[in-house]
Amino acid sequence: MGRILFQKYEMIEQLGQGGAGRVFLAKDKNLNRLVAVKEQTVQENADLCREVELLKELKHPGLPEVYDFFREEESDYLVMEYVDGISLRKYLKKNERVPETLAVKWALELCEILIYLHNCKPAIIYRDLKPENIMIRPDGSIKLIDLGAALRCGFGAGREQLCMGTPGYTPKEQWQGTRGDKNWDIYGLGAVLHEMLTGENPMLPPYERRPLREYDRGLPSGLERIVERCTSESPMDRYQSAEQLKDALCHPGRAGNLPQICWQLKRVIVGVSFLLAVLSLVLPLWKGVPEKEIPFPFLKLPLNLLGVWIFLRCMLLGGAHRGKKRAGYFLQKQEKKIWLTGKKFSGLYVLLVFLLGGVCGMQLPAGNVVYAGKNEDKLWVEMRDEQGRKLLLQDGAVYKPEVSVRFELPVLRLPEEEIRLQMVAEGQDGNIYYSRVFLIDGGEKK
Ligand code: ADP
Ligand code: MG
Repeated sequence: MGRILFQKYEMIEQLGQGGAGRVFLAKDKNLNRLVAVKEQTVQENADLCREVELLKELKHPGLPEVYDFFREEESDYLVMEYVDGISLRKYLKKNERVPETLAVKWALELCEILIYLHNCKPAIIYRDLKPENIMIRPDGSIKLIDLGAALRCGFGAGREQLCMGTPGYTPKEQWQGTRGDKNWDIYGLGAVLHEMLTGENPMLPPYERRPLREYDRGLPSGLERIVERCTSESPMDRYQSAEQLKDALCHPGRAGNLPQICWQLKRVIVGVSFLLAVLSLVLPLWKGVPEKEIPFPFLKLPLNLLGVWIFLRCMLLGGAHRGKKRAGYFLQKQEKKIWLTGKKFSGLYVLLVFLLGGVCGMQLPAGNVVYAGKNEDKLWVEMRDEQGRKLLLQDGAVYKPEVSVRFELPVLRLPEEEIRLQMVAEGQDGNIYYSRVFLIDGGEKK
């Protein structure tokens, strides 16, 4: 550190390392203020240029201001407002969950930022809402950083080779090359709100999002319905604007009053039935009362039915949880084997999770240097270093962050259908440093 860029930005420390480059805290020596400097090498800088183009026209208290953009020694630098505070990811690591009122407050602030972005002309779709990109400031307000994945509505949303976003926080149509839509961000906000309230990270096993009140009965059903509507699989079922979502968040009761009443009613019915069941057991045993003189003989049938119902319910609930656990286990098993096959999952997509200790610099295979596996059924992935030497790709292997590795896929053996390749680089500290999904269209190969 201590390096001076563009004759005036004195680098102080590294703030973060994203998929595409590094971010530094620096001091603008002329204006005597702290700034954040995002660095990307020239060949990787497509995202940074797009980010600058978007950010320079935006002005909102929830977004960092752009100060400068320049090129020096093979790298591009974006100088922007330094956001003091911690990321929501760090907050969640420390506190596990966000208290309900605070989570709703932050969700409303995110809504305001989305309302601003979506009402630009043409609309800007943020595309990468996740805890890593949300900064919590010391005064408790939030800022959204990293517009690297943002997109102007109607531009460049065609069939991009590299779909941007983060699995778990993005709807499935975001990976299918359809035109960008504002409700993608509604989905992302719903996913973040769910994680704030439950602490369940959708990027980690069991890779699922259950209704809010299965994690915490104390959460309002209105909020549960809001999150479910945001993260609905069908785009039509989501809120169609951030304004609508904001309105729902301000009046969560409207979204959930009816089910709340039903739930209360159900509780009363179950309680009364249980009381009657106890009475029917106790009364016949009551000394001096012969069985045929039980005061409520008509209760026998409903009580038997209640017993059967409670029994079935317990069985079914247990079964459902066991099923979910099995699904999670299956994915974990795949992580360890690190292979990907197009056959077993045809019709679905293939999910490949690399768990590599501390690999930060990753590149997709360059040119057409590919390796074809020997086994016809399986699509093997090879990993090589910069000199082209094969590296051992195994569970738990640790690679140093400065090592740039290359993954090679056997292009000639790719299945005809579309596959998705997910890469996750996890540090030894458990932090996820890099996660990208690559959409590979097997149909385009020669
Ligand atoms: P990437 O596009 O590589 O994900 P980000 O813009 O998200 O990069 O930045 C990576 C990390 O750097 C963030 O998680 C955050 O910790 C830090 N960071 C980025 N921009 C700022 C900023 N303006 N102020 C303070 N920290 C920042
Ligand atoms: Mg980021």
